[in-house]
Amino acid sequence: MSAKYDAIVIGTGQAGPSLAVRLAETEMTVAIIERKRFGGTCVNNGCIPTKTLVASARAAHVARRAGDYGVTIPGPIAVDMKKVKARKDAVVRKSTEGLEKWLKDTRNLTIYEGHARFADAHRVRVGDELLEADKFFINVGGRASTPPLRGIDQVSYLNNSTMMEVDFLPEHLIVIGGSYVGLEFAQMYRRFGSEVTVVERGPRLIHREDEDVTEAIKTILEGEGIEIRLNAECIGFEKRGDKVAVQVDCSSGDKTVIGSHALLAVGRVPNTGDLGLERAGIEVDRRGYIQVDDQLRTNVPGIYALGDCNGRGAFTHTAYNDYEIVAANLLDGDHRRVSDRITAYALYIDPPLGRAGMSEAEVRKSGRKALMGKMSMTHVGLRGRKARRTDS
Ligand SMILES: Cc1cc2nc3c(=O)[nH]c(=O)nc-3n(C[C@H](O)[C@H](O)[C@H](O)COP(=O)(O)OP(=O)(O)OC[C@H]3O[C@@H](n4cnc5c(N)ncnc54)[C@H](O)[C@@H]3O)c2cc1C
Repeated sequence: MSAKYDAIVIGTGQAGPSLAVRLAETEMTVAIIERKRFGGTCVNNGCIPTKTLVASARAAHVARRAGDYGVTIPGPIAVDMKKVKARKDAVVRKSTEGLEKWLKDTRNLTIYEGHARFADAHRVRVGDELLEADKFFINVGGRASTPPLRGIDQVSYLNNSTMMEVDFLPEHLIVIGGSYVGLEFAQMYRRFGSEVTVVERGPRLIHREDEDVTEAIKTILEGEGIEIRLNAECIGFEKRGDKVAVQVDCSSGDKTVIGSHALLAVGRVPNTGDLGLERAGIEVDRRGYIQVDDQLRTNVPGIYALGDCNGRGAFTHTAYNDYEIVAANLLDGDHRRVSDRITAYALYIDPPLGRAGMSEAEVRKSGRKALMGKMSMTHVGLRGRKARRTDS
């Protein structure tokens, strides 16, 4: 069977659905293809479920500290992990079902459920169907990376997707990777009641942040009883009965951490290896990210790539902003560019880290002059602001 559309969107992540609906509203015939669950990473195993779990973990944390605020809760604080997961599932379900309904109710928009592969630069195959279009918008996102760490094939481990099925309390969770995804899970499970160790290959947590920021985060996490092992340059796994032993080879301390469960949070890879990009002649970089210009056009005319798969952003709002840029250029005559985007994101540990714009290290590297102000939150309301110039 074959069908022809004006535009085909591959993936229902954070850019695809809005773009598909917008195009369909301009009377174009549009198809959107999804191989798994509507909403992609953010909705099913990224932002929404993790932030729902973070909220449950915070409730447990605040309840444990209730006495500090003069509130008495008789008896110990217990966390029912089955209820925590059920709450998370309900929130996720609401989002995916809402999205599915929105797409299905949109006129001129046809949904295909299956894996899309390019047959050539004008056609994609989904199961037995061959779909043709003038324009393609690739929004296939990414997944957890599984590097070939020593012994990894000998043990079972979790990643951000399989963590979503956990409805029990791991006795001791070893989180491999001290960056954004790993740290959110680390604090969350510590607050649920697990013992938690974070194993990081580098000399400090979230190395993209300034040193004082990563140091503050380390202090906060250690203050909650999370063990942090840095400089773990030679990470390896070994099964020890029903436990997992992670060799960390750190510069100090024991060289092995033994836990009940291991969570791999060591980066993301784009879902581009099984998309038939080579048949369409679409260029990727050595890590598989689709190469795009400032308007998100690939090297093949009429084919665009949006969201995490183009390597130009790694957040829900950057994927959505990709949709806005493509729609502005294609439909509104507004010449928006990716390079105009200002970096902004958050790390949802508690208290959260928020960033807008450049870090101090980036400012210094750029050689620009900047005015710096620093104030500890414990001093808000007590002292005036202290500012200094980076060139002073
Ligand atoms: C644990 C975790 C927490 C996060 N928390 C936050 C947060 O708090 N805030 C934030 O801004 N970002 C967060 N992110 C990042 C955010 O989830 C992603 O940046 C965002 O989902 C990227 O959206 P996307 O549209 O590029 O792709 P995705 O959301 O990954 O969607 C891609 C879709 O394409 C489908 N697909 C792939 N290949 C094919 C194919 N061949 N055929 C058909 N369909 C296909 C997939 O099934 C998927 O549904 C988090 C990520 C993780 C992993």
